[in-house]
Amino acid sequence: MIVDLHNHTVLCNHAEGTIDEYILKAIEKNTKYFGFSEHAPMDFDPKYRVSFEQMKQYEDSVLEAKEKYKNKIEILLGYEVDYLQGHMDDRVLNSDVDYLIGSVHFIDEWGFDNPEFIGRYEHEDIDEIWQKYFNAIEDMAKSKLFDIVGHIDLIKVFKFLPKRDILDIAKNALLAIKESDMVLEINMAGFRKPIGEPYPSIDILKEAYRLDIPITFSSDAHSPEQVSLYSQEIVDIAKKIGYKQCAIFRHRKREMISF
Ligand SMILES: [Zn+2]
Ligand SMILES: [Zn+2]
Repeated sequence: MIVDLHNHTVLCNHAEGTIDEYILKAIEKNTKYFGFSEHAPMDFDPKYRVSFEQMKQYEDSVLEAKEKYKNKIEILLGYEVDYLQGHMDDRVLNSDVDYLIGSVHFIDEWGFDNPEFIGRYEHEDIDEIWQKYFNAIEDMAKSKLFDIVGHIDLIKVFKFLPKRDILDIAKNALLAIKESDMVLEINMAGFRKPIGEPYPSIDILKEAYRLDIPITFSSDAHSPEQVSLYSQEIVDIAKKIGYKQCAIFRHRKREMISF
């Protein structure tokens, strides 16, 4: 997979492996542009992310690796930022990085993708939480704070699927993404979860293609073995739908790469 922009490091406290191990795996998989996008610091849910104090350490270690491997692969620096009202921080939003991924991991402060809190699905109206989730994605796009939409349909992770048509639930979010000129990632982490398919689903991706929304590719690796683990699958899906290019970012400027 030529481009892989969403990967974590040990600094988020729920990933393993060294930065070198991730990069060596990416080189082995013929990746040309490999990005780290650590869970950005936030005053909410601090346990699962880098701390504000560690930001410099994170950025410096990625930049050191960028220099070290520059003849083999281009390393890019980013953050995966939680779109969560009242908890986004200028130190992250104004950081000197190549790109920011905007992700929604919380509905009303419920960490819906965390297996620790899976019990709550039983007490929720699934159609309603899907709509709330996509409303948050729409707001995130309209904020224009981010470059890439992280795992756009993460709400499907545990396979609690809505009765309503998913495209109907997601349509305003997709229009907002188009309007904000954001990039959609095809994220293979879904293959490692109960849902067993990438984010987004084929239907959402087809609609994104129809709307001319650009894509990029992501392992969302939390260990070196996960780098490019299902890359063939997601590249094949993108090609089949008609995509021929994917995005990278340098200092928040987009460039399209043929794949
Ligand atoms: Zn994570
Ligand atoms: Zn995420």
